[in-house]
This record gives sequence, C-alpha cells and structure tokens, in this order.
Amino acid sequence: NQKLLDVRDLHVSFDTYGGRVHAVRGVNLSLEKGETLAIVGESGCGKSVTAQSIMRLIAEPPGKINKGEILLKGENLLTYSDKKMRSIRGKDISMIFQDPMTSLNPTLTIGDQLTEGLIKHASLSSKDAQKQALQMLDLVGISNAKERLKQFPHQFSGGMRQRIMIAMALICDPEVLIADEPTTALDVTIQAQILDLFKEIQREMGVAIIMITHDLGVVAQLANRIQVMYAGQVVEEGNRRDIFYQPQHPYTRGLLHSVPRMDADRNVPLIPIAGTPPDLFSPPKGCAFADRCEYAMDVCTDYHPPKTSINGQHTVACWLQDDRVKLAYNEDELPM
Ligand code: SF4
Ligand code: MG
Repeated sequence: NQKLLDVRDLHVSFDTYGGRVHAVRGVNLSLEKGETLAIVGESGCGKSVTAQSIMRLIAEPPGKINKGEILLKGENLLTYSDKKMRSIRGKDISMIFQDPMTSLNPTLTIGDQLTEGLIKHASLSSKDAQKQALQMLDLVGISNAKERLKQFPHQFSGGMRQRIMIAMALICDPEVLIADEPTTALDVTIQAQILDLFKEIQREMGVAIIMITHDLGVVAQLANRIQVMYAGQVVEEGNRRDIFYQPQHPYTRGLLHSVPRMDADRNVPLIPIAGTPPDLFSPPKGCAFADRCEYAMDVCTDYHPPKTSINGQHTVACWLQDDRVKLAYNEDELPM
C-alpha cells in the first residue's frame, strides 16, 4: 500500500550568524490520494520548512536537509537533480503561498502566467493552453475569464489573486497541492470563500492537499487528518475528530483554546498559551513544550517523550500518555 507522499524522519537546519537552527527535527508525514492533511502550529514550528523541503525549495546554504527521505510515489525526491525537480514542480506537486503578490509576476498578464506551465510541462500549443486557462479560471470562480486573461495582477483584489494562484498551481493537474497559510493575508469573508474553493477543487480534481496553518479554525471543515507541530517536531496526529474532540497533548489543547474556531461557541473565552517556544539553536533534550506546560514532570525535562498510540491513527508524544508514567502514578494522582 504505497502512499502518494511519504516523508520519513526529516531533519532540516539553517546556519545563521547566531549558530545552527534545528528547524525540523525528525518529522514524518504521509499523504493518501485525494485527502487533506493539515499541519498546524505557531510560527517557527517548522511547518513551512517541512513544506519547502518537500518542494526542494530550501536554499542550501544556509539551509540543509541533514537526514530523511521524501518519497513521492516511492521515489525519493532528495535524490533528484535540480533539473528533474523543476520538471515535477507544478506538474506532480504544486505549492501556493500566503501572499499571492510575491508569487505572481507583476509584469506579465494572468493569461501568460497561467499558460506558461502548460506550454512548458504539457507542450500544449498556445491556443490549447489558452483554452485550458479559461476553464481553470472558471473553476476557481473568476468570471469574465476571457477579458481577465489579458489583465495584470494589480488589477485583481487579494482574494482574486489567491484564486489565480490556485488556478496556476492546479492547471497542470498535480496530484499534490501544498498550501502554506493560503488565507492568512485575506479578510475573514474572503477567507471562507477560498476555503470553500479548496473543498470544491478537491471534489472536482481529486488532488491531495497539505494545508499549512497556524489557525486550527481554518482546517476545522477541511482536513481529514491533522498534525500538530511544535519546535520542529510533530507532537500529535489524528483525524479531525481526534484533534478537535479528544486532543491529548497539552499544546494541542492550548491551541484549541487560543484560536477562534469557526465551528465553536463564540462565547468561549480565548486563552493564549503563556510563554514562548524554546530556541532551536540547542533544542531541549526532553519535551520541547516543558517550559510552557502546566503538567510538566521531572521525566519531561530529562527525556524526550516517545510517541504513544491512542487509537489507530491518533498518536501523541507526551509523557502523560506513556504507560510507564501511568503506572508510576496512582490514577487520581495523575496530573490530568
Ligand atoms: Fe507537558 Fe510533559 Fe507532556 Fe511535555 S511530555 S507536554 S512537559 S506533560
Ligand atoms: Mg510559515
């Protein structure tokens, strides 16, 4: 049962003037055909770096993928030449970013930018590419497409530009779409429309999506599975119900209480998580969340918490769920 995408034990670091930052520390993730996986965590947790590694967009130096495998349909992308990698970007695996203006070329028409990939990857004639671009604009909800193709990025609103980015990312029919904070720069109404668009696109095209966000609210409707990242590691993983209704990691619980949720009672007060993540120059040897965790025990600061399976796909890396810790405490003494 080969996964569409399978990332194994990924380690990524960056050399800075202050020293080496260990941004991603042993991340595993997998993606099945047509599903949506959300990667959630605060800024700096390594979620974007993980995505950029999959796309092979980490600049080396100062970045370096030190260890791991990134298997797309069984083939390790880390062994690909830059040229081979360029040939699959956009065609097999595509990415969109938070701010569409930085990814769109202000000097080219939308039509030229949309058809570029098709002419390059699919060797379509410019007429056929044009036709496909029209269909794609239609699919992402841009009306009057024929006129719009002749316009430049600045002639579109922020929400429209993000729709165009989505169209560009999907026009060569990739199997994997990575979206890094795709709605963060947009206002709430437009945000909801773009999230609906993702759902529709998945229905229409069957593309598998990795949705990266700091905001659990964004993925409440969309994700099949959720991975919560903290300080360069995955601390909890489960399906949407597990994470929203049975969160086990204190950090996941904190996240759920600290962000407004579209599906939750708006009267529930928001409680920010106190403290800041550890610096990743010299990551803590125990649990990276220990400094901020109200349940921290001695074992937490001394030893890294192992991954424990709660049920099936739901796993957590927290000593509270470890059998040895459960045995060491009486049931009613357990901190939570
Ligand atoms: Fe808190 Fe310990 Fe669990 Fe880390 S391992 S989240 S410090 S209880
Ligand atoms: Mg980011």
